[in-house]
Amino acid sequence: MAEFTMELNEEQREVRDWLHGFAADVIRPAAAEWDEREETPWPVIQEAAKVGIYSLDFYAQQYFDPTGLGIPMAMEELFWGDAGIALSIVGTGLAAVGVLANGTEEQIGTWIPQMYGDQNDVKVAAFCSSEPDAGSDVASLRTRAVYDEARDEWVINGTKTWATNGGIANVHVVVAVVDPELGSKGHASFIVPPGTAGLSQGQKFKKHGIRASHTAEVVLDNVRVPGSCLLGGKEKLDERLARAREKAGAAGGSGSVKNAAMATFEASRPAVGAMAVGTARAAYEVALDYARTREQFGRPIIDNQGVAFQLADMRTQIDAARLLVWRASWMAVNGKPFTAAEGSMSKLFASETAKKVTAQAIQILGGNGYTREYPVERMHRDAAIYTIFEGTSEIQRLVIARALSGMPIR
Ligand SMILES: Cc1cc2nc3c(=O)[nH]c(=O)nc-3n(C[C@H](O)[C@H](O)[C@H](O)COP(=O)(O)OP(=O)(O)OC[C@H]3O[C@@H](n4cnc5c(N)ncnc54)[C@H](O)[C@@H]3O)c2cc1C
Repeated sequence: MAEFTMELNEEQREVRDWLHGFAADVIRPAAAEWDEREETPWPVIQEAAKVGIYSLDFYAQQYFDPTGLGIPMAMEELFWGDAGIALSIVGTGLAAVGVLANGTEEQIGTWIPQMYGDQNDVKVAAFCSSEPDAGSDVASLRTRAVYDEARDEWVINGTKTWATNGGIANVHVVVAVVDPELGSKGHASFIVPPGTAGLSQGQKFKKHGIRASHTAEVVLDNVRVPGSCLLGGKEKLDERLARAREKAGAAGGSGSVKNAAMATFEASRPAVGAMAVGTARAAYEVALDYARTREQFGRPIIDNQGVAFQLADMRTQIDAARLLVWRASWMAVNGKPFTAAEGSMSKLFASETAKKVTAQAIQILGGNGYTREYPVERMHRDAAIYTIFEGTSEIQRLVIARALSGMPIR
């Protein structure tokens, strides 16, 4: 187990500086254009692939960093550059992690390379769980996967929504119900390979922020995938379902799922917290720079306590958010139990901080802050996503409150 440390080692510092350079030189200058175009920034993803940032190798290296700081450090730097473009770059990683966590070695080797494509022909992947009637309430998914034993195929029907890269992805990872009696313990994840008949893109959403990231509905109409596309395989699924049925029978109901589900989310939420820290830090830096150079009443506006104290609060909250994120990331990598839902804490605090700090940045820039000539209004629009996806702030509070109290708070 790696000791918790706040100090990046030499290798991590090198990676951070390299990522920062890419964020500053390639991502940030392209941010306004792709925000306006509201399209996937393929050329920027391709640049990231060329230098090795858009690749499984890079992602896996950070993911398995024993200090836990690899992923949060990478997320902070890329999202410092621009949230929409950075999500286009890391969105595939969300689907890849689903396969890394639940797939067999063969599935990992077959599908993850197809998620990324190669430098000359980059591809993206999508993770499709949310549905129109199942957002926060993940247990009420309706998309159904039924096994056709004669053909060793799964038949999937349903509509997914809010899927990052949905419909434009080469590989889709789809969560579907295989046993409706078991709530979220009756769910399983499937690979939908490139070009599979029956999968189509529904509505593409026009969004408030992170507009360079593609978000859409995914319609699954009698989608047939081979048995080998069930992540983890049929034997493992049957064993898991049998255990869940036994427990549900013993409990006289559908059984509690909170521990298994919680552990998974607790481990992934700090990464979203780190994205929020990146956006917050970006807005804070713009505001600090502006406050030092903008003069009113014959002096820089930072000479006013009213402005300087805002900057002091912004920086304090950003540093506090990063501490919570790094703690939770270290806990996740080292298998520490999240007894107080520390992963959710980090995501809650960092995402609320990003919303607050980006709003303060607009205030400090005055009229300029309110225009698209300066980046803080985009950063403020982008920041709003962090309190919504990967569990809303209310759901984070619910999870933390339940962990603290042991009560089924509703
Ligand atoms: C840009 C974007 C990208 C996304 N990417 C993906 C993706 O790639 N894959 C994917 O599967 N999903 C994705 N999502 C979906 C995202 O995770 C959901 O939007 C989120 O979980 C909230 O679900 P919902 O939108 O249905 O809101 P709802 O669950 O309907 O919530 C609406 C409001 O009610 C509140 N609320 C709900 N239940 C409670 C409760 N019990 N107590 C207190 N308050 C409550 C919520 O906090 C929220 O304020 C994405 C969403 C967006 C906007």
